[in-house]
Amino acid sequence: MKQKNVLQGEYVDLVIVGGGMVGLMLAAALRHTGLHIVVIERAVYQPMMSMGLDCRVSAIVQANVNILKSVGVWQYLQDKAGLMTSMRIWDGQEQGGIRYEAAEISEDKLGILVENATLIQALQDTLKESESVELLCPESVASVFWKRDGVEVVLESGQVFNTPLIVGADGGRSWLRGQVDIDVFSRDYAQKGIVATVKPRFSHQNTATQRFLETGPLALLPMKDDMCSIVWSASNARADELLALSDSDFLQELNLEVGGVFGGIADVGQRAAFPLQAQLARHMVRPRLALIGDAAHSIHPLAGLGVNLGLRDAMVLAQEIVDARKFAEDWGDMDVLSRYMKQRMPDVLMTMASMEALHRTFQVQMPAWIKLRGLGMKVLGNAGVVKQLLMKNSTGINMPVPHTIE
Ligand SMILES: Cc1cc2nc3c(=O)[nH]c(=O)nc-3n(C[C@H](O)[C@H](O)[C@H](O)COP(=O)(O)OP(=O)(O)OC[C@H]3O[C@@H](n4cnc5c(N)ncnc54)[C@H](O)[C@@H]3O)c2cc1C
Repeated sequence: MKQKNVLQGEYVDLVIVGGGMVGLMLAAALRHTGLHIVVIERAVYQPMMSMGLDCRVSAIVQANVNILKSVGVWQYLQDKAGLMTSMRIWDGQEQGGIRYEAAEISEDKLGILVENATLIQALQDTLKESESVELLCPESVASVFWKRDGVEVVLESGQVFNTPLIVGADGGRSWLRGQVDIDVFSRDYAQKGIVATVKPRFSHQNTATQRFLETGPLALLPMKDDMCSIVWSASNARADELLALSDSDFLQELNLEVGGVFGGIADVGQRAAFPLQAQLARHMVRPRLALIGDAAHSIHPLAGLGVNLGLRDAMVLAQEIVDARKFAEDWGDMDVLSRYMKQRMPDVLMTMASMEALHRTFQVQMPAWIKLRGLGMKVLGNAGVVKQLLMKNSTGINMPVPHTIE
């Protein structure tokens, strides 16, 4: 950690490193507070197009959709998002399965599906309304110097800021996290997630499906205009094999695995693959530093919850900063930052643990275990109150996270 005695440069209230979905969300949540905020993003987002859509998509659960509404992002998204009103999960080997309907928890939908490019653009459009938030892109931080009362941030362009708090929203390989030597616990699943846009034969009827195959889960996510996005997790070797296939051979393999859902898949676009890892930073905060989103934690995408956790980090940190200012506290101080960390840890740890448990449950291929698993899913599918509770947890409805910043 580089120390300096005298802080130089222009004073700003907050510096956010990383203008991905989570970093932009923090800025958007704070944009009406009058705080002077600088977001530093090193690259213009490049969508990976597949049948006219960015094949990197995010399922945003209903509670976070409500957050996007209250923060003012929704108006830029609503015409572009696919709706998810029901979800079917089933085991590829046993016919046991569960169906969730939004109506079971008195909601009109369980969440939405949105291209990452669209969500990033919507967040940037939201920020254009604000004069107190500056997005510097493309721009990078050259160095940071830490002092008791602030951080000096020197950009590659030579511009210098000093701020009471710097936020690392710079993703799983966070550069900022490395600057303070925060180590990570990591778990390599030795899997890749293949993503692509596909066209099913019949309407998806706003239903997301997830099929747990021997090789890993395969999700079909409902996008706009009856298109679907797939996330197919498979061992590295199997994923490389699938990626190397021609479009028509890949389509054939995909149709063998989707089990006739939506009448099968008629067409598939360009494919891309991402290595799957879970990771947890040993510390979410340090004096004058907070980590949010994947910089703090990343999870297996099998339940599509990674960015959802990050959006909740952003909301809780935003509220803590606003509260600290109200009570004339220094928001870079550990007292304030610990409050952020304490609120976020239970959600992060519980989500990570349940992803790990799900992954393990569906990885075991012993016949007796497969039978038990199928039975468990049938019981759960009929367990009214327990099922409702699970649904409320997975849609975030039960989470004690601020929906507006006051
Ligand atoms: C296959 C797959 C499917 C997924 N599906 C879902 C899903 O359905 N739902 C869900 O909730 N999550 C999903 N996720 C997880 C989700 O994509 C991540 O949790 C999310 O992208 C994290 O957002 P972030 O803003 O924290 O980090 P990132 O998206 O990684 O953004 C970090 C930003 O920081 C910038 N940056 C990095 N270093 C620097 C630097 N030194 N200086 C300046 N800028 C920098 C980067 O350019 C980037 O824009 C999925 C992940 C995968 C791999």
